[in-house]
Amino acid sequence: MKLYSTQHQSPDVSLEEAIFRGLPPDNGLYMPISIEKMDPSFFETIQDKSFPEIAEAVCQHLLGEDLSLEEIHQMISQSMTFPAPLFDLEKDVQVLELFHGPSMAFKDFGARFMAAIMSHYLLKSNREIRILVATSGDTGGAVAQGFFNTPGISVTILYPKGKVSDIQEKQLTTLGGNVSALEIDGTFDDCQRLVKQAFLDEELRAKFNLASANSINISRLIPQSFYYFSAYAEAKRKGLKLPIVFSVPSGNFGNLSAGLMAYRMGLPVKAFVAACNENKVVPEYLSSGEFSPQPSVETLSNAMDVGNPSNFIRMKLLAGEQWEKVRELVKGYFTNDEQTKLRMKEVYDRTGYVMCPHTAVAYDGLQQYRSENPGEYTGILLSTAHYAKFLPTVESTLGQQVPVPERLSALLNKEKVAISLGTDYASFRQYLLKK
Ligand SMILES: *Cc1c(COP(=O)(O)O)cnc(C)c1O
Repeated sequence: MKLYSTQHQSPDVSLEEAIFRGLPPDNGLYMPISIEKMDPSFFETIQDKSFPEIAEAVCQHLLGEDLSLEEIHQMISQSMTFPAPLFDLEKDVQVLELFHGPSMAFKDFGARFMAAIMSHYLLKSNREIRILVATSGDTGGAVAQGFFNTPGISVTILYPKGKVSDIQEKQLTTLGGNVSALEIDGTFDDCQRLVKQAFLDEELRAKFNLASANSINISRLIPQSFYYFSAYAEAKRKGLKLPIVFSVPSGNFGNLSAGLMAYRMGLPVKAFVAACNENKVVPEYLSSGEFSPQPSVETLSNAMDVGNPSNFIRMKLLAGEQWEKVRELVKGYFTNDEQTKLRMKEVYDRTGYVMCPHTAVAYDGLQQYRSENPGEYTGILLSTAHYAKFLPTVESTLGQQVPVPERLSALLNKEKVAISLGTDYASFRQYLLKK
């Protein structure tokens, strides 16, 4: 895969360069120069393939010039170790459950694949890197789990003190080994600023190979396309109505962009619903043609509280570039906290199924879409996190206790290990130099 920068001011790069650089020097985003359609025969027999088999075929299609079949097989079997099943919610509505990985959120797919592919290149060249990542919750957990025990890589995670949930904090602070957690006495923005400053620090960079694991890295996007294909395969297997409409709860629009990559590879999809909370700059762009970033507002579905989505440009390019084309394929809807809670409660009372707030936003987006677009199709909503990661919200909304999976409750008994730091760069820098 060859990649270009969306700003067109830096040279094209190889897959390996794009992965280790993260961002091009002109501050654009790396995009594949071309995404070819897969052979139609792939879609005719896709229902006979398992999730890892589908992942390997798609990976081979995209990265066949960079990696051998054997290397791809190795990477997929290392990283895609949990399923992405469809749950039969109600007539013509399926839930694509993306929370069966180690941190119980969909970011596990991206983080684990990224760890596997980075480690592949590092082992080949005998290098080591240090990953720095700032997190407001879910990213840190997925990165910590994804990179845990990965040869050649150490990880430092910065999180804001008192601003992540108990479970999220334990996911960051109980692994040990090559994963260190820094509890910053400040906000998420402080954490992000410290990381940015470290990346600009020439002396640090001369000493260590620093790399970032945030969601604009192309190696996180690629594996997120796999489960759109596997959802289609399962829909065929179950004899569900085709075509499919995917409803994607969106913040930075990485997940939706990955769906559009699958579409560009030929996956039959009727439409994508861009389901947002009150951070609604993309639905507004889709209705007006104007993209105008805003400060983010806090909501219950806080992993989607993004006022300036970092993957917006990718989404736009992948969906056809011109506004008229983009809005034919991507349909924007937004919802508020009140309605999110109503959806969680209504679905629970009717079906017994518990959804996290992000999933409820996707459900609401799908229902809004359906009321404007009646017809014969299956709506598939992407469930991006297990509800137990948002226990206080879920239990107060449903008015009762809900079961917590063993994997998460066991975490709460583990001992937290974190280093406390202030928000000044000097202390952070000193910590990095000493380590
Ligand atoms: C990160 C996240 C999202 C948003 O995904 P994007 O790819 O940033 O649009 C949605 N739900 C959950 C639970 C998340 O952690």
